[in-house]
Amino acid sequence: MLQTEQGSGCAKWLGDGIGAIIDSMFPDKDNRAGIGYGYFSDNDTWAIKGGNLPDGTSVDTPYAITINANGGLFRPHDAITNTDNWYDVGGKSYRGGAGSAQAAILLHELAHVMSAADAGASGFLPDFGNQDAHDSNSDLLGEQCRDVINAF
Ligand SMILES: [Zn+2]
Repeated sequence: MLQTEQGSGCAKWLGDGIGAIIDSMFPDKDNRAGIGYGYFSDNDTWAIKGGNLPDGTSVDTPYAITINANGGLFRPHDAITNTDNWYDVGGKSYRGGAGSAQAAILLHELAHVMSAADAGASGFLPDFGNQDAHDSNSDLLGEQCRDVINAF
């Protein structure tokens, strides 16, 4: 089980059960993975909690988190829109593909998992299709996890 540092702001905010939740995302049977990877029909969404994709389709395996292969987790530039990918966390932007952006994106989705399980990430809101909720979550993630994000 993952050991989280006691008193660490980000780990404390995510919740005491984070180790068990992460363990449950990587079952050692059935070859299931907790984090899925695929191509979304648009590149505006870089990762989601669960497997229900933005276009209304869903992935076959019930992933805890699904990552867009063409999104900012891996790519500093969007070839379709010809724009650079930046991930905003509470007013500070991180370049797509950089370790700090990857940490922020995955912590954001992990906060959704913890919140949905009512196991932590207090104040984190469902934000699918809701920019105001996404911005609120971005501010909260920055407050709680900036040191962790900046360490990457
Ligand atoms: Zn979100």
